[in-house]
Amino acid sequence: MSLHLYDTWTRSVREFTPLKPGEVGLYTCGPTVYNYAHIGNLRTYLFEDGLVRTLRLNGYRVNHVMNITDVGHLVSDGDDGEDKMEAGSRRTGQTAWTIAALYTDAFRADLKSLNITEPNIWCKATDHIAEQISFIQEIEKKGYVYRTSDGIYFDTSKQPSYGYLGRLDIAGLQAGARVDLGEKKNPTDYALWKFSAPEEKRQMEWDSPWGRGFPGWHIECSAMAHKYLGDYFDIHCGGEDHITVHHPNEISQTEAAYGTRLANFWMHGYFILLNSSKMSKSTGEFLRVQVLIDKGYDPIAYRYLCLTAHYRSQLTFSWEALDAAQTGLERLRQSVFALGPAGDVPDVDFMARFIEKLNEDLNFPQALALTHELLKADLAPAIKKATLLKFDEALGLGFATWVPLVVEVPANVRAVADARWAARNAKDWAEADRLRGELTALGWTMKDGKDSYTLAKN
Ligand code: AMP
Ligand code: ZN
Repeated sequence: MSLHLYDTWTRSVREFTPLKPGEVGLYTCGPTVYNYAHIGNLRTYLFEDGLVRTLRLNGYRVNHVMNITDVGHLVSDGDDGEDKMEAGSRRTGQTAWTIAALYTDAFRADLKSLNITEPNIWCKATDHIAEQISFIQEIEKKGYVYRTSDGIYFDTSKQPSYGYLGRLDIAGLQAGARVDLGEKKNPTDYALWKFSAPEEKRQMEWDSPWGRGFPGWHIECSAMAHKYLGDYFDIHCGGEDHITVHHPNEISQTEAAYGTRLANFWMHGYFILLNSSKMSKSTGEFLRVQVLIDKGYDPIAYRYLCLTAHYRSQLTFSWEALDAAQTGLERLRQSVFALGPAGDVPDVDFMARFIEKLNEDLNFPQALALTHELLKADLAPAIKKATLLKFDEALGLGFATWVPLVVEVPANVRAVADARWAARNAKDWAEADRLRGELTALGWTMKDGKDSYTLAKN
């Protein structure tokens, strides 16, 4: 079966055909680097990584672009409130530029520990101010902007198709929001460029044809996608929260400037819930990958947990679920390792079935289940191993490099164990028992086999 993906634009699963043969242009909205990423954010990046790996397994060359939002994302979802970067700077006592670098590095380290493939192109909003300004000028030329006392706004009422991605009820929104519109003409209008307040010295601000200030949050994605992928590319992704505001705004900007809806496919990863509420950086308490590591989990157990749920269903996080994922992962790795060296070719039937699962809108839960079926199948271990290594190009669980932890036995423990083994062979049971007690006191358990013994750390 050819690749089929769910497209939020049409609200249906469609066959994927790249716009240019053999090549896929992919843009994924990246992190706002005012704080660490939480495991909720990372579920979205894991979903996108599953997409990239599936595209590659289908033989496509993927040109993956991800932005880094380091300016202009305001604390409130409307267009007022503080810039998250300036707020992060106040919280940490470091400059906005310093924390941007710090949290970008931390984000990349999180991707690495979850075995998420890095994009081909990273692009920072602050490195593309000129591109954003000329994009806004393009929108201005087409007559979609107006000026208020605090910025340059996009007039969404000029675009009949505005909000189609989110199936927004524009009339209903219009009726409900009359009172607190401020200078905005319509509730869905949004800032393209914000002016620095006259009394304020911002850490991040630039001159523009409209006045000194900074870009609105949405324009960076339209401008950088335009620069690196063109006006119309294959797939654009983000979390489900982007369906109603950020992505409709990106689409409206590109449609105004260049007449396209930016991407052929719009895909969204659903949230992970903690205590059945959305996990959020702005509400304070949140879980980072480092917290999982500090608690003794392998971060790949979180990847495994995410693989057990389809990306289009919400997933509730619990420590019990993570424990179960860690156990499942451990067993799977042990079984794969025990198969020994891989043969040259994977099993054709299993490979076809695996790709078929992925091609049904990235059905990773069923693809993962196939690993268990394969392990039980009547095939030579070398073939099973070759097949599982190929599966792992999509699963990303690290089968090729994983080895069981070899626990070093200290020399004094080894000496007591050897003495006990000798006492036992000499049928000196009293001495053997005494030495067993000594081993227990040292924190080790000795198991007697027929010809030798094994030691386990308690
Ligand atoms: P941000 O850094 O806040 O701009 O968010 C980065 C990405 O994480 C966006 O694509 C969001 O849609 C996504 N995201 C935010 N919260 C969650 C969550 N609880 N579960 C899954 N994805 C999320
Ligand atoms: Zn974006």
